[in-house]
Formats: sequence, C-alpha cells, structure tokens
Amino acid sequence: MLDPQRSFVEPLLDWHEENGRHRLPWREPSRSGFEILIAEILLQRTTAASVAGAYLPIVARYQSPETVVAASPETIERRIAPLGLAKRAEFIRRSSQQLLARHSGDIPHRYADLLELHGVGAYTARSVLIHAFDEDIAAVDTNVRRLVSRFFDISPDSGALTYLADALVPSQRGSEFQHAMLDFAADVCTARTPQCETCPFGEHCRSSGRAV
Ligand code: SF4
Repeated sequence: MLDPQRSFVEPLLDWHEENGRHRLPWREPSRSGFEILIAEILLQRTTAASVAGAYLPIVARYQSPETVVAASPETIERRIAPLGLAKRAEFIRRSSQQLLARHSGDIPHRYADLLELHGVGAYTARSVLIHAFDEDIAAVDTNVRRLVSRFFDISPDSGALTYLADALVPSQRGSEFQHAMLDFAADVCTARTPQCETCPFGEHCRSSGRAV
C-alpha cells in the first residue's frame, strides 16, 4: 500500500472537489461559530438533506445566543419541530444560556469547554473545532468510522481509529477533509452498497470488493 496521504487523502480530496456537497448552507465559509454550532446540533441523528431545508430560516432568526435566549422556548421548538427530536430546541436554548453566562456569548475554542455545553458530545465538539477554528483534527461518526475501518481494514470498534483519522488530516485542510470523508461515506462507501468497482481508491482499499 502506498503511504496514506497518496493512497487515501489525495484521492479523497480530488473526489470531493468534483463531487462534494459544497452547497450545503452551513458549509459557507462566512458562517459564524454560533451558526456552525447550531448546524451541528441540528445534524445530530438527522440527514443533511433534512436539515438543509430548515437551517436557513433558523439561523436567519437566531443569529446569536442573545436572540435564542430572548425567544420563547415554544417559538424555538415550533421552528425546529419539522426535523423531529424536539429536545434539540432545548439543547440550543440551554447551550445559548451557557455561552452567555460563561463565554460572553462567544464559542469557546477549548474542547473541554465545548463538551460542557448542553447537547454537545465529542463528535459535535470536534466538528465545531474543525469548522469554526480550522483545527486539523477529525470528527468520527458512524460513517467516517465505516470508511476508515474499511480502507485500513481495522475494526470499527478500535480505539485507535480516532487517532488514525486525526493523523490523516492534511495540514490546514481539516474542514475540507472532514466534509470529504462525510460525503464520500454517504455517497460511495455506503453501509449496504459500497461502490467498490468505481471507487477512486481502487486496490489500495483493503476491503475493496468484500466490504459487505
Ligand atoms: S473500495 Fe469499496 S470498501 Fe473500499 S473505500 Fe471504496 S467503496 Fe469503500
């Protein structure tokens, strides 16, 4: 196998340049840290396609923790209701209160501080660091775990997988790389019908042709 940069990272970024979901509204470079946090909370256990339709009206109405806290809980719930999982309205409201009380309304840059926010677990905290602060780390969800474990033929339950994903991130391209892994896992290296025959990794993937 070639080195991981040439066999995995570069083909993945090339694929993403042509095929990535670049138009998703929360991926616009001008998004604030708060808007990124809102997106990551809404995306929990929900597809990007579902969130895409609801996101813009929500961030247009709630551009800051102050605007969230000033609104009634019922109003926020009503706006998020089409996505289901109403508890996310509570996550957004309570995390906004915490941001105002502890961080002057700013998004904290420290992982530990992010984890203390309501509704923020390891994946969401890492995603915020990647997309709001350009950190060169990876956020590993089910899809990223599947892709990396298949390519390198390691157990998806391996504790080393997050370390491996972190080590793959190309310098100063963390956000792009994260989006590439998510999009590729959703469109090519899918759970049930991976497209190994046309996969750009070809024979470099250790699970090619036998992933399911
Ligand atoms: S060759 Fe198949 S299993 Fe490997 S990354 Fe590509 S689609 Fe996934």
